[in-house]
Amino acid sequence: MSVSLVGAGAAPGVAVGPPFLVAPVANAVIDTGPAGPPEAEKSRLHEALAQAAEELYALAERVREAAGDEAEIFEAHAAFAEDPELEARADALIDAGQSAIAATMAAFAAFRALLAASTSEYLAARAADLDDVCARVTAILAGVTRGFVLPDQPSVLVARELTPSQTAEIPRDRIAAIVTETGSPTSHAAILARTLGIPAVVGAANLLQLAAGAKLMAVDGRTGEVHLDPDAAVLAVMTERQASESARFAELADARLLPGRTADGVAVELVANVASRDDLAGAVAAGAEGAGLVRTELLFQDRRTEPTVAEQAAYYGEVLNAFAGRRVVFRTLDIGADKPIPFVSRAAEPNPALGVRGIRLSLRYPKLFENQLRALVQAYGASGGAGPMRMGIMFPLVSRVEEVVAARAEVARVAADEGVDVAGLEIGVMIEVPSAALAAERLAPLVDFFSIGTNDLLQYLFAADRLEAEVADLADICEPVVMDLVARVVAAATANGAWVGVCGETASDPAVGAAFVGLGVRELSMVAGAIGEVKDLLSRHGLATLVAAAEAARSAPSAAAARAALAAALGS
Ligand code: PEP
Ligand code: MG
Repeated sequence: MSVSLVGAGAAPGVAVGPPFLVAPVANAVIDTGPAGPPEAEKSRLHEALAQAAEELYALAERVREAAGDEAEIFEAHAAFAEDPELEARADALIDAGQSAIAATMAAFAAFRALLAASTSEYLAARAADLDDVCARVTAILAGVTRGFVLPDQPSVLVARELTPSQTAEIPRDRIAAIVTETGSPTSHAAILARTLGIPAVVGAANLLQLAAGAKLMAVDGRTGEVHLDPDAAVLAVMTERQASESARFAELADARLLPGRTADGVAVELVANVASRDDLAGAVAAGAEGAGLVRTELLFQDRRTEPTVAEQAAYYGEVLNAFAGRRVVFRTLDIGADKPIPFVSRAAEPNPALGVRGIRLSLRYPKLFENQLRALVQAYGASGGAGPMRMGIMFPLVSRVEEVVAARAEVARVAADEGVDVAGLEIGVMIEVPSAALAAERLAPLVDFFSIGTNDLLQYLFAADRLEAEVADLADICEPVVMDLVARVVAAATANGAWVGVCGETASDPAVGAAFVGLGVRELSMVAGAIGEVKDLLSRHGLATLVAAAEAARSAPSAAAARAALAAALGS
């Protein structure tokens, strides 16, 4: 029977394919099932633990062959699966009447509690590793495929949630689309899906329950539609949309390689958000005129130890080379909240998004910060220093002036220590906390640029968790108050000779990007695949039209009215 749901469109594109269910990391929706005879349940458990360990050793081997230091993580995970104490605890629970899955979850939970309570930061951080191993074992017991042992046929990956690292591991050629039950379009998994060019829908309620028996799915990552076992009429509509999306992509082939500018020649840098090496070639091919946001923390994720200064410098140099001669803005580590890093663990925070993350964390871990700045300064020096290579460093989650003063001082200290002249290095601040937006006049004299991070700015402005599908509609970029704030930031920057970019995901919505330009933003950084459409829209309007469109949006009574005003002004 055909069933349709609507989630939030997270990455554009239309896809049709069979569903492929991925077991959740958090174990939340695996049915613990009835308990069979204890001996049978125990033998299932032992086999599942052995299989998990075997898979993890094989994974470690594969990673080692690819010369990754991360191999150790998976060996440590395998050791958890082989831990005799854990097995004995689960066996005892089975003897007391529990099913193998329930006993596994309870045994892992008990170990987790012990680790989480540890005063050793290292041990406390291992709690998350245990979750991952537990998910693997329960998935084996439940007969659900976990990880990415994928079918040959491109499939629609269906999951309760995906972590950023899971999303990054997805082999692009086997995945037609991603649909998750939770999450919002600004979650990092959604951002990665956009970067990988995989259509995605997030926040599709009841997805797992409904998809369990489905044979075919059709997904539109722009509208958020998800059709399970679509009937002939729906399938025809979706196939038609798929064809027109491909035609549009081909149509923009030339436009995406032209410099970003308005119809009357005002230059607007259209640059890419980059998260890993894999994004570099694609970004240049997609028409990126540089990188407006290099999310450096992805180099640190899924590792047991901090990358060395040399390793970091090599990576930063690679990014600079990929965009040779164009501006590249590196963001210093934005660890914490939705981007945890195993070796920088902190005691559990009741509300991590409001806790120690971004620049706050860097300033509390001076050696980590120093090492990163050293690597950045070295990469800058090696690229020609004050020469034509333009490079920026920006600090995430700034909420007050002192943080910028301290961070800048550290850049100067490290540069002096390295003997690198950083006079030509641009220093910027991300505007993603309301207090920073409101302090723009005070911050502007301290920086060369502001980069507005709308993903977090909207989250904090509207008190709407960016990971929570239920409140995603509250955090609307078209709310006139947001436009007011952007205008204020631009005014403060302009008065101090600084420039303003936007690197949140909203820049990739052509009408919204155009409104930002109308407000005075001159750099839009986005997932590379969106650059063509934004360049195309900008090239069709003169600056005066964009200014008028932005003003109409700003004076609209609501987000919906603002969106309509933009559409009317821009014919989009
Ligand atoms: C933002 O918050 O808008 C941003 C670009 O940073 P991130 O999405 O990485 O938090
Ligand atoms: Mg952010």
